[in-house]
Amino acid sequence: VVAASFHCELAWLGGEAPARDVLVEADDGVIVAVTPDAPAPSGATRFAGLVLPGLANAHSHAFHRALRSRTQTGPGTFWTWRDDMYRLAATLDPESYHRLARATFAEMVLAGVTCVGEFHYLHHAPGGVRYRDPNELGAAMIAAASEAGLRITLLDTCYLGAGIDPDGGLRPVEGTQLRFSDGSVDAWIARVEALLADVESNVRVGAAIHSVRAVAPTSMSAVADWAETYDRMLHAHVSEQPAENEQCHHAFSRSPLGLLADVGVLGERFTAVHATHMTEHDVTLLATSRSSVCMCPTTERDLADGIAPTARFRDAGVPMCLGSDSHAVIDLFEEARAVELDERLASGVRGTHRVMDLLVAATSAGHSALGWRGAGRIAVGAPADLVAVDLRSPRTAGVPADDALAAVVYVATAGDVTDVVVNGRHVVCDRRHCNLDVAAELDTSIRAVWDAAS
Ligand SMILES: [Zn+2]
Repeated sequence: VVAASFHCELAWLGGEAPARDVLVEADDGVIVAVTPDAPAPSGATRFAGLVLPGLANAHSHAFHRALRSRTQTGPGTFWTWRDDMYRLAATLDPESYHRLARATFAEMVLAGVTCVGEFHYLHHAPGGVRYRDPNELGAAMIAAASEAGLRITLLDTCYLGAGIDPDGGLRPVEGTQLRFSDGSVDAWIARVEALLADVESNVRVGAAIHSVRAVAPTSMSAVADWAETYDRMLHAHVSEQPAENEQCHHAFSRSPLGLLADVGVLGERFTAVHATHMTEHDVTLLATSRSSVCMCPTTERDLADGIAPTARFRDAGVPMCLGSDSHAVIDLFEEARAVELDERLASGVRGTHRVMDLLVAATSAGHSALGWRGAGRIAVGAPADLVAVDLRSPRTAGVPADDALAAVVYVATAGDVTDVVVNGRHVVCDRRHCNLDVAAELDTSIRAVWDAAS
C-alpha cells in the first residue's frame, strides 16, 4: 500500500471542538502524522466538512437486515418479532447469506462504519446438520466484510439452549434454533478453534455467549475460559427483556449479569449488549470488573425492550459503545443521539451525555470492545480509517465550525457521509461505494431470501 495523505477542512482529534486544516498522513494503512493548521500539499485528497475516525458498529446480526419494514408494524412483542426472525433464519444458505451480509455491510460502510462486530449465531444447515466446513457461514461473513471493505470481528456465538427451566436446566433447542447450536460447549470450542486458523489482517475472531437463556452456567464458564486463554473479546446479550430477568431469578436467584459474574464472564474483555433492565448491583458489577456495555437504541425501541440506565453507566464509568443490532436502521449518528435523547425521555433531564462522549462511543470505545485497541482515533499509530461528513447538506448547513460535532451527533444522518477511507484506501467516494451498487445488492439479496421462504 502506497503512502497517502488527506487534508481535512475540520477533523475531530478527540477534543470538545474540531481542529482545522488537519493533514493526516498514512503509510501502509497506518496514520504516521497528524498536523492541524497545515496547508494542503499537492497530491493530498481534500475532504470538506468534518472528518471523524472510522465508526465501529459493535453489535450486528447481518441477516436481520432482511426484516426491515417487514416487522416494524403490527402488534406484538420482542417474542413475536423473534418468531419472524426465525422464519427468515430458516431460509438462509451460505450463498444467500453471503450476498445479504455483503450488501448489509456495504450499507454500513456507506454510513461511515469501518469496523463491525458480527454477533454470529447461525452456524449450521437446517435441522442442525453440519456443513462440510462447519465454519462455512462464519467464513461467508468474513468474506462478505472483506468484499464490502470494512474490518470485522466475528463474535462466534455459543447458543445451546432455548430457555431456562425453573430448576436451572436448559430447554433443548428446536426448529430453527437447531441451526444455532453446536450441541455442546466442547463442540463450540472445537469449531471456533478451526476458524482461528485462517484469518486475515482486517479480521478478528471473538467469542459470544448468546444469553443466559441459551447457555448453561458451566458452559458460560468454559466460553469465558476459552476467551481468556486465546485473549479474545467476549460479548453477551444481557437483560434485554424483563422475562429473561424473571427466568434467571427464578432458577438461580440472581440477575443475568449476577450469574455471568459468578461464572467468571465479566472483565475488561467483556461487553454486555443491551444491559437494559439492570439493578444498581448490576451496574456496580460492570464498573468494578471494567466491563463495557453496548447500546443499540434503535433496535431497543423497535422491539419495545426499554431504556437502559445510561446515566448510571456514565456515573459508574462503564464504557459505552453502539450497535445497530437488528438494522431497523443503519445509522450510528442516530444510535449516538438516541443514547442521550432516550435518557432525556426517561429522566426529564437534558445533557447527561456530552457530545464528545457519544462520539467516543461511536468510534474508539466500539473498536476497543471489538478487540481493535487504539483504532477509532485520528492519531499516530491508529489505522487510517476516516469518515468525512458533509456540513453543507440540507440538514447540516448553517452550523458554525465550532459546533460541527454537535451537528453531526444531533442532526446528521448516514446519508451525510460523503467519503470513507479504510486502511488508507477509499471505499466510499462522494457517497458511492467504490465496488458495489449497494441499493441494488440489498434489493436482490433480500428478495432472494424471502423468495426462498415462500
Ligand atoms: Zn443482538
